[in-house]
Amino acid sequence: MSNNTELELVALTKLYGDTKAVDSIGLKIPKASYTCLLGPSGCGKSSTLRMIAGHEIATEGDIILGGKNITNLAPAERGTAMMFQNYALFPHLSVLDNVAFSMKIKNVEKSERHKKAKEMLELVDMDQYAERFPEQLSGGQQQRVALARALITRPSILLLDEPLSALDPFLRLKMRVELKKLQRSLGISFVHVTHSQDEAMALADQIVVMHDGKIEQAGSPIEVFNKPATEFIAKFMGGHNVVSNQGQLQAIRSDKITISKKAKASKDGLVSFASRIEEIEYLGTNVQVSAKNDALGDIIINLSDQTFFKTPFEIGDSVFLSWKAEDVQMLPN
Ligand code: ADP
Ligand code: MG
Repeated sequence: MSNNTELELVALTKLYGDTKAVDSIGLKIPKASYTCLLGPSGCGKSSTLRMIAGHEIATEGDIILGGKNITNLAPAERGTAMMFQNYALFPHLSVLDNVAFSMKIKNVEKSERHKKAKEMLELVDMDQYAERFPEQLSGGQQQRVALARALITRPSILLLDEPLSALDPFLRLKMRVELKKLQRSLGISFVHVTHSQDEAMALADQIVVMHDGKIEQAGSPIEVFNKPATEFIAKFMGGHNVVSNQGQLQAIRSDKITISKKAKASKDGLVSFASRIEEIEYLGTNVQVSAKNDALGDIIINLSDQTFFKTPFEIGDSVFLSWKAEDVQMLPN
């Protein structure tokens, strides 16, 4: 295993009775990196995370953390920490005692554990709330306490299961930025489970797209978005048209298509398709146009508002849709 790898999953499998929740996945997570496990509900993200944390036993395969096989260790012996979706704070303990809880279990003396807990609360900018109880905090504040509580164990990897889904949209964006900052400043690896493409694109160094218990693609956000490996990923990531062109499945980004009254010359490396405008939606900074070509079907085109208003057209107009052959992503049929 390369010495830049923090965590490696080897043929990791989870069965619940007959249900194969995780199907022999292999993955390397680099040191000090932000990885998002992305996929629709039920694809096996949480099961994968829980096996890494030790809250589920792997049916088959291995989990190697920092060069050590942790597959069958107890959760507290692994060097991992988990932050749950509902934060799971103890309602009868103060913020400080919530954060210090794991040290109390380990019989660390009170002044020492309170000192450490205060440091952790400073890290997440919650030291002024140390004496409050969870019910006296907002959702975002509770989340910071849950983060401090997870980090006090000094994990080499932090596992987060849908950490932003309980927050309102405004707070979700704010906390997203803070999670990324925290990961950078701590210099440890975060593994973050989400079903939101936007969240994964914004946060991740590595996006791991899961589908039906398998990893369908792992790569940087740019790789996964620009070079989706499969039809499923092209559709799930959004922003792509998946079409069958003469029997070959292809994806073309909706913002790489131009609309013109005349066909563009193919000698410029362009392909053009006679189409009819079906729908125009103004979305503020951009305009989404739907058009139909007899062979390809419905195509979505995303234009900047400036481009659209330079040569506006109307529903029912006959036009040509053109794109560069090099912008087409071939997909396995
Ligand atoms: P995700 O987090 O991507 O939504 P999960 O890992 O929770 O997916 O679930 C993957 C599959 O395993 C689903 O089909 C789910 O119903 C099943 N599953 C998850 N947990 C259990 C369990 N404790 N017992 C039985 N089946 C489960
Ligand atoms: Mg889940």
